[in-house]
Amino acid sequence: MPKRTMVENYAALAVNVGANVQQDQHVVVRSTTETRDLAREIVKQAYLAGAKRVHVDWSDDYVSRHGYEYMDIDTLQEIPTWVVDKAKHAIDKGACFISITSPVPGLNQGVDPEKMQKSGIAAMKKLSFFQTHMMANKAQWTIVAAPNTVWSEKVFPGKTGDEANEALWDAIFEACRVRDGGDAVAEWERHNETLSRRNQILNDHQFAALSFKNSLGTDITIELVNDHVWAGGDEVTTSGVRFNPNIPTEETFTMPHKTGTNGKVVATKPLNYQGNLIEDFWLAFKDGKVVDFDAKKEKRTLQNLLEFDEGSSYLGEIALIEHDSPIQNTGILFYNTLFDENASCHMALGRAYPMNVKNGTSMEKDDLEKLGYNHSMAHSDFMFGSEDINVTGIKEDGTRIPIMKNGNFVL
Ligand code: ZN
Ligand code: ZN
Repeated sequence: MPKRTMVENYAALAVNVGANVQQDQHVVVRSTTETRDLAREIVKQAYLAGAKRVHVDWSDDYVSRHGYEYMDIDTLQEIPTWVVDKAKHAIDKGACFISITSPVPGLNQGVDPEKMQKSGIAAMKKLSFFQTHMMANKAQWTIVAAPNTVWSEKVFPGKTGDEANEALWDAIFEACRVRDGGDAVAEWERHNETLSRRNQILNDHQFAALSFKNSLGTDITIELVNDHVWAGGDEVTTSGVRFNPNIPTEETFTMPHKTGTNGKVVATKPLNYQGNLIEDFWLAFKDGKVVDFDAKKEKRTLQNLLEFDEGSSYLGEIALIEHDSPIQNTGILFYNTLFDENASCHMALGRAYPMNVKNGTSMEKDDLEKLGYNHSMAHSDFMFGSEDINVTGIKEDGTRIPIMKNGNFVL
């Protein structure tokens, strides 16, 4: 495996900054078979950090694909009780979670989208308690990434095999501030401070709405919920442990009011949904709901997402990211939301984060919904930031204050 020490640093970052594994804590690592070397290193680092037991949940995207292909739709919707029990057990043990993402682009091409849709919904219904636990920050969790050859060759079309994998590793390290001889943990402390200052400024303003405009045709106003909270960078569990849900992260994000979005947004990067790449698309909103849309590629997939459930045609997140960011500056399209969403301003269709409203993590769903929270089992981020985007904050009394000009913060 190449770049041994860099991978060690990256694994240590995932364990100590991402999940912030505590002494005697149980840890669940979720990995595909493609990323077993990183998974092994993360397991080791977790034990070094004091983990009591580290469990690895292996999956294999090719095996899953065969399942979609050959299983009938009813069987696909049967969720074994042991899957539910495993999630319950981890929650009971107070475990934290480290997921390694490594998408295989195009793998699910030709799979009946209804099969993926229905089995996805069935799993999410059975595991909604688990999602609630995570979304309410009752446990630390983090997501990191590792290359696989199909993904690497997609990102670097001129390279093949190990050469492509090495190039993607380099890009991942760069995006995650893991540098040869550097102290990634210290870097991340500074980075978290910058994001926390930005959150503070925006929280103090308590804008009633945000307006976004650029030359591509984005012209949209997004109302924010009252007492909204801007978050980004590290978060704190309900028991007081800091953690970084995403590595990398550059965003500061908050909660749109479910019925308060009006106008048109033009995406600036493709959206990967269920293994399919939706390209060159736009969405038009009225009173929060998508009422019109188009895509040059995979329009049907976009329609699937919008029809996934009631909430998937409304917004659940709006995030600001400077155009001048380490990920944007690599100039690489990663074809992976974890990276691409941190290159550019984005919004998400679907579920909102309870943490984005004051006291939200201790509220019931019904009470959150009264405040304008959007509930959905989907949460799909898409990018619309550009080098000429202007973002304006609109106060309750109509005062307009520039937040970003030409893609960068001026507030
Ligand atoms: Zn986001
Ligand atoms: Zn998101």
